[in-house]
Amino acid sequence: MSIFCKRCDTDMQTVFYEGVAIQLCMSCKGVYLTRRKLEIIKDSREIEIAKDTPKPRKGPEVPRCCPNCQDIMKKAKYGKIRPTMIDYCETCNGIWLDKGELASIQFSYEIAENNRTRNQFKRA
Ligand SMILES: [Zn+2]
Ligand SMILES: [Zn+2]
Repeated sequence: MSIFCKRCDTDMQTVFYEGVAIQLCMSCKGVYLTRRKLEIIKDSREIEIAKDTPKPRKGPEVPRCCPNCQDIMKKAKYGKIRPTMIDYCETCNGIWLDKGELASIQFSYEIAENNRTRNQFKRA
């Protein structure tokens, strides 16, 4: 069962973080995982996803479809200390993280390592 990156129309790859399988788009470096998985990864930290939908960041942003169930994802705030805007699917509790957002949630994540390698093969 594969999950598709809606933005790139590309198959997402399964990568592991702390034993948890998450989906990574090799094209845009977007990450998809469920809220449950994020909680497992961050189980020692508090998790808060705000229900209110904040104003979009500068520039037009196209509503993102959930790569798992194709529902429109909502903007949500993640984290208390340094809140990061994430895309959240209420239907399947799926979470989309753009490139860099994972890092800003302070994962020391091996994607950074992968990026360096994969960028060599990035399509123009
Ligand atoms: Zn993508
Ligand atoms: Zn979903």
